[in-house]
Amino acid sequence: MQAQKNNIFAKIIRGEIPCKKVLETDNLIAIHDVNPQAPVHVLIIPKLDILNLCDTAPGMELLLGSLLLAADQVAKILAVKESGYRVVINTGKDGGQTVDHLHVHLLAGRAFSWPPG
Ligand code: 5GP
Repeated sequence: MQAQKNNIFAKIIRGEIPCKKVLETDNLIAIHDVNPQAPVHVLIIPKLDILNLCDTAPGMELLLGSLLLAADQVAKILAVKESGYRVVINTGKDGGQTVDHLHVHLLAGRAFSWPPG
């Protein structure tokens, strides 16, 4: 299934909705979350319309890997590499996904508990 082209992230990617950008490449953007759950909360979003991890397949390894590399790059830019960070990909209803466009959460700036709620 393809992500809907009118979801909020598709609009942000097209520049129709403002965002606070940390990083942009040909294939992805990294933006500060509008409702941060930690002192650092950045979303890494592929520009390609992908609903979530269930919407991926072999052949997308480079794109998926680039999201994780971008997360680490953002951690470096925002100076949280040494203290550490958490990367989360909420997927589907039980995964807590609320925006139907694949995105990676990078959370940092405080200690996180486990297991997650
Ligand atoms: P999900 O719940 O799908 O894993 O994550 C969606 C995230 O998108 C949430 O953390 C939410 O705060 C964030 N979000 C929703 N709308 C906007 C927006 O318009 N701008 C930004 N920067 N983040 C948003």
